[in-house]
Amino acid sequence: MKSMKNLEYYSKGIFDNNRTILAQAITLLESRNRKDYELADAVLRSCLKHKKPSIRLGITGHPGVGKSTFIECFGEYLIQKHNRRIAVLAIDPSSYYSKGSILGDKTRMEKLAVNPHAFVRPSPSSGSLGGVTFRTREVISICEAAGYDTILIETLGSGQAQFEVHSMVDMLLLLVTTKGGDILQGIKRGIMEMLDLVLVTKADGENIKQAELARQEYQTALGFHSHHEKANQNSPPALSCSALEVTGMDDIEMNIQSFVNESKHNGYFDTKRKRQMITWAQERIKEEMGLITESICEGIKKEDAILKWGEQIQNGEITPVGLGQKALENFSKNFSKKGSLAKS
Ligand code: GDP
Repeated sequence: MKSMKNLEYYSKGIFDNNRTILAQAITLLESRNRKDYELADAVLRSCLKHKKPSIRLGITGHPGVGKSTFIECFGEYLIQKHNRRIAVLAIDPSSYYSKGSILGDKTRMEKLAVNPHAFVRPSPSSGSLGGVTFRTREVISICEAAGYDTILIETLGSGQAQFEVHSMVDMLLLLVTTKGGDILQGIKRGIMEMLDLVLVTKADGENIKQAELARQEYQTALGFHSHHEKANQNSPPALSCSALEVTGMDDIEMNIQSFVNESKHNGYFDTKRKRQMITWAQERIKEEMGLITESICEGIKKEDAILKWGEQIQNGEITPVGLGQKALENFSKNFSKKGSLAKS
């Protein structure tokens, strides 16, 4: 029987915000099976056409800094006070370690996960780089088509994950604490220039005074670093908050909104998104090229090929360089006959 899961099934389900179908569509987009590529691409195209205004925020910081607690608190705040609809692309708890223990599903964003105005999607462990996966961009697009206007992408505070997420979001927020000596030393080279907001977390109880001192220190440090592609002339703000006592949320929201308004006004927002689309295409080209290389190499590794070519190389009839060239030529011939990477 022919599968009923066609373009119409996915598009309608996504636009109606049917969470089951939204999750199925994400699985389709994350599929590495070439048979799924054509449908996945059609679904993505229909989502891109259906796009609505949104804000994409990257939330980064070391394990234990308070990312998931903050996202839960800020997400609930945005839903209740600002009528927002939140999609969270979260770090997969099974691949996430904090203080030596694996954090289970239940301890991470349990309120937001059941809120009808929120959609929480942990990233799959495979192909995941601390919260950013090889299909995060695609997932953002379909969440936006489903009507989520605020996309929060949780990322581990490792340099590479931060660079990756920076190329997908409108704003990058770094969460820090006053503890663990993470003031400034904890920020890797090059990250400072990418930040749009620094947030000192856990500003509550006995930590309030220290948090304020840390905030001032970050604010001063941010003034020394020039943002490489600035949205405005001011240095990014350093704020403090407590997810436990729900303080600082208005200030954070106001700062995000003013950053977005200003960057829309001066064209930075749109330019950055267009640039990110090109980065997206480049990433897909690299992925395709990797798959092609793999399949060409597999082709000359088959048993009969080893016998045939191995003997010819031994006899001096062909060199390994010549064999490589021949394999590439054969691929090119086949490719131009088929005319598409997806079908090759
Ligand atoms: P993540 O690893 O960055 O996602 O950090 P978590 O959100 O899991 O938080 C790590 C620990 O810090 C948990 O024990 C939280 O209860 C605690 N925590 C998170 N936010 C706050 C806060 O605002 N105040 C205080 N006092 N503790 C917090």
